[in-house]
Amino acid sequence: MAKVVLITGASRGIGRATARLLGAQGWSVGVNYAHNVKAAQDTAAEVGRAGGHARVIAGDVAQEADVIAMFDALEHAFGRVDALVNNAGIVAPSMPLADMDVTRLKRMFDVNVLGAYLCAREAARRMAKDRSGDGGAIVNVSSAAARLGSPNEYVDYAGSKGAIDTMTIGLAKELGPQGVRVNAVRPGLIDTDIHASGGQPDRAAVLGSQTPLRRPGSAEEVAGAIVWLLSDAASYVNGALLDVAGGR
Ligand code: NAP
Repeated sequence: MAKVVLITGASRGIGRATARLLGAQGWSVGVNYAHNVKAAQDTAAEVGRAGGHARVIAGDVAQEADVIAMFDALEHAFGRVDALVNNAGIVAPSMPLADMDVTRLKRMFDVNVLGAYLCAREAARRMAKDRSGDGGAIVNVSSAAARLGSPNEYVDYAGSKGAIDTMTIGLAKELGPQGVRVNAVRPGLIDTDIHASGGQPDRAAVLGSQTPLRRPGSAEEVAGAIVWLLSDAASYVNGALLDVAGGR
């Protein structure tokens, strides 16, 4: 039986690359997006071409009703849920904390923290063995920013990813006995659209060239780590924070 995964923010970047790789392994993939339906449809087509099945699932992870509906749609399409990739995330323009307004701060924590917690909660409700699930795996997409702090750029974003690391550590202990492994990847400078959305389209290329490997990473290189953490090859890996940051 094909395994079933929901990937939040799978229309672009790391989420899309993960969907494609899991599709190549025969997974059934819920391709979540917030705004960009055309990109989500393209991801779904790529999953199909790779050999998997896909269903495009709209929803803002920061809205509880959307998150519940996303998981309902996944179960309706594929009959079960085996995994969550908690990937959706945002940045905002670089600035010191002293210049950040409350609207920005609230949205940052709503999407990156509340959204990730709501998705993990729904996954736990449906996968934990003490709630009639069959077990499974969660991979949270954190960031190297959680340990770097991102001073003068976005300490809000960095803090939101610190919360993801802590959630990973706690949930690994809470859900391990229920047959659900919980891990995180912490990407470094990865070449995706997210930098343009923060007003710096060339950020990954410029700063990536100053890292030990002298280049930014690709979405595929992060996806490979996520897929490994979901796989049986990582069956004794639980509560890990896996840096995929080129040694940064
Ligand atoms: P990206 O290319 O900007 O893609 C972001 C994805 O998230 C899109 O699919 C977007 O959907 C979706 N999304 C945004 N807000 C959402 C919401 N409220 N609800 C549902 N989906 C939402 O970003 P990326 O670089 O692939 O980043 C993916 C994850 O990796 C994020 O958590 C990010 O913080 C983390 N990360 C990235 C880097 C990096 O250098 N790229 C480094 C460290 C960590 P739409 O297409 O519909 O807008």
